[in-house]
Amino acid sequence: MTSSENLDLIIVGGGPAGLCAALYAGRGMLKSVVLERGVPGGELLNTEKVEDYPGFTSILGPDLAAKMAEHAQAFGADIRMENVEGIHLLPDGTFRVSTSSETEYRAPAVILTAGGTPTKLGVPGELEYAGRGVSYCAVCDGAFFKNERIAVIGGGDAAVEEADYLTRYGSRVFLIHRRDEFRASKVLQERAFLNPKIEVIWNTRVREMIGDAKGLQRLELEDTITGAPSSLEVTGAFVFIGFKPNTWLVREHVLHDAGGYLITDDRMMTSIPGLFAAGDLRAQLTRQVTTAVGDATTAAIAVEKYLTDRKTRVAVEAA
Ligand code: NAP
Repeated sequence: MTSSENLDLIIVGGGPAGLCAALYAGRGMLKSVVLERGVPGGELLNTEKVEDYPGFTSILGPDLAAKMAEHAQAFGADIRMENVEGIHLLPDGTFRVSTSSETEYRAPAVILTAGGTPTKLGVPGELEYAGRGVSYCAVCDGAFFKNERIAVIGGGDAAVEEADYLTRYGSRVFLIHRRDEFRASKVLQERAFLNPKIEVIWNTRVREMIGDAKGLQRLELEDTITGAPSSLEVTGAFVFIGFKPNTWLVREHVLHDAGGYLITDDRMMTSIPGLFAAGDLRAQLTRQVTTAVGDATTAAIAVEKYLTDRKTRVAVEAA
């Protein structure tokens, strides 16, 4: 039988944004839960070293995740292992969050921090060397490849822009694209073409990523027209072939941009009153741990104000 739990706030996702929202919700004495399907930490768990989180010159991603979870729990965060299946808006303006377990959760406010997933190439070696040469975030990992040979895979804005960014670290950046023209905007293309450190490898796909105990060492390539194989020695491979924000959880129409990222106001509230978004699934310029926790701080404080205003409104309407 399904049981139902009533709360002030439901936080969906236990990455840096979710844990930070829980910390502030705890300090604000809100009755809240964090629903996370795995170990808390989100993308931090797939990140080897973090060197751009203030206060830590260098820290392992999983260690920072554990510290964030402990910190939130010290302020009373209730982190539950739950697989969220849907967020449903009810006629009274509150939310029901359904899970794959027997429990469903109800609250007048939800902060959605379920992140997103970088699209994987799906070639042998990719997952094996993820965090040991293979990366999906240039700002996070670029500095680990100083004076090394780097490959970037993709032909959209992200690949072309990040290839340019990565030349500040790499000795050479190979931009590998499966066609003979980029879909990236012209201005980004021009910048890349003018950059002497970038070499574009057209009509090519990656067949395999090969390495050793030290990490990635080379890519096995194939010409998409002739089928001719080749090898490229690199110690870094950045894959930018798309990113899918996990916004499918919201069952009602919610305002989003062309990439599916949720559009919020400056309080992190989406187009659905009471539904807030923070972190990687929110439409914004950049997606970092620091921006995720910033979003979450704003969202949690905005939720407190939203709940107070809502209580007043409901009381006035009832009077
Ligand atoms: P995107 O525009 O969808 O481009 C994905 C690229 O990856 C395409 O070039 C595609 O090749 C290639 N690709 C897809 N699957 C592949 C596979 N299996 N193997 C090899 N290549 C594959 O994605 P994005 O670059 O991440 O950008 C997403 C959105 O964010 C876009 O709307 C973009 O404009 C925006 N964005 C904007 C900026 C900016 O304005 N500065 C920066 C980053 C992202 P094909 O071209 O052959 O399909």
